[in-house]
Amino acid sequence: MHGLSLERNPIEILETGRSISDIIDGKIRHEEPFYVVNLDNILERHLQWISLLPRVKPFYAVKCNNTTAVLKMLSALDTGFDCASKAEIELALSLGVKPDDIIYAHTTKPLSHIRYACAHRVNLMTFDNEEELLKISHVHPQAKLVIRIAVDDSKSMVRLSPKFGARLPTVRQLLGRAIELNLEVVGVSFHVGSGCTRSSAFRQAIEDARRVFDSVLGFQMRLLDIGGGFSKIGDFQEKFKEFSEVINGSLDEFFPPVSGLEVIAEPGRYYVESAFTLAVNVIAKRVVVEDRRVMMYYINDGVYGSMSCITFDPAHSKLEPYPHRAVKKSEPRYCSVIWGPTCDSIDKITENYWIPELYVGDWLLVDNMGAYTVSVTTDFNSFEKAHIYTVVTAETWHSLNLSRMKMWHISACCAACTSLGCLKNSLKSLQLIEDAAASVLIGS
Ligand code: PLP
Repeated sequence: MHGLSLERNPIEILETGRSISDIIDGKIRHEEPFYVVNLDNILERHLQWISLLPRVKPFYAVKCNNTTAVLKMLSALDTGFDCASKAEIELALSLGVKPDDIIYAHTTKPLSHIRYACAHRVNLMTFDNEEELLKISHVHPQAKLVIRIAVDDSKSMVRLSPKFGARLPTVRQLLGRAIELNLEVVGVSFHVGSGCTRSSAFRQAIEDARRVFDSVLGFQMRLLDIGGGFSKIGDFQEKFKEFSEVINGSLDEFFPPVSGLEVIAEPGRYYVESAFTLAVNVIAKRVVVEDRRVMMYYINDGVYGSMSCITFDPAHSKLEPYPHRAVKKSEPRYCSVIWGPTCDSIDKITENYWIPELYVGDWLLVDNMGAYTVSVTTDFNSFEKAHIYTVVTAETWHSLNLSRMKMWHISACCAACTSLGCLKNSLKSLQLIEDAAASVLIGS
């Protein structure tokens, strides 16, 4: 129904001693591209989030990556969900997410989608303009509204404020209109832009939100939504700690805990970007000799598939696929171009790229491919989309709330592994997990 199902993508157990690289080894029997998703990585992100931002409940932004296993993992971890459309709400609800754990975080919604939210008791939603208030008052008058304000996003890789967010001078009038329409506004939201590079952007935005709270007459505002913008790779790795210190300090200064304010966020990239590794196959090769000798490789995924991020996401404008096979230091490097599989010349992954010689059938890997990849592919030229294989360690599986296990469909990770010892270990892990799940089922 949603393009991805756990039946097609069972979660595999990664037993002790095996790595994600072993899993990849086992999957490269066919020619098609695939992702390996490490759910442990998502758990690590979550543990870091709750330890560094204890006042902020994450509502994962489904648009960033709507893989079912990811959503189930996050639901098991008790995050909420930021949905941008009827289909995303439908997907979250179909996985057992409660309507109260969803924010419909889009300020310009089709009327029919608002109606759907209303019919399914999804009440929390954002707005930033009067027309939206009129639509909501017609079809979902009980909605709990969150006014999205435009903030300074000039230090972010992807800016959002040119398109969304009420400008501060217009907020008072907009809130007045909500009162006239008998609508309830419960909070303020902002988004500092995706891939934010300056923690000060959050401080300024939280201060702006405080101003909105102070200017409101007639509403009891109780929610602050600090949006997304967090990242976890490259420079950002160290920065998350700095970001959280700034956010915590600003929250304490402008919204002290005694205020009883509920604080949520809509992280997307932060949770999924480093959990996904993409494996692609060299399907063709040309050696071109003009001014110099250039190797041209054609791979089976590209800009119209998993790598569309090259064209719209500055955080991913330069992808560096690397050979899956072990490369000796002494191997010569050749100037290379890597092309995607379609008949379009903008379907180029990288050029002037110096790598060892590759051959048809070789595999390349691309790390950190979880954000704005699987959810942004097209059918252009009808190449097969990358399959998604999901793995989790038995330890992580156990550490999840057992009662949630009923929702999951699991299978052992032995198809790719020929060693009997490994098979036994895997079955042992699976048995433990099934026992645990069974005890919950019996108890329920
Ligand atoms: N919330 C909204 C409204 C968004 O538009 C986006 C991204 O575009 C996100 C959350 C997720 O942002 P990020 O992936 O930067 O955390």
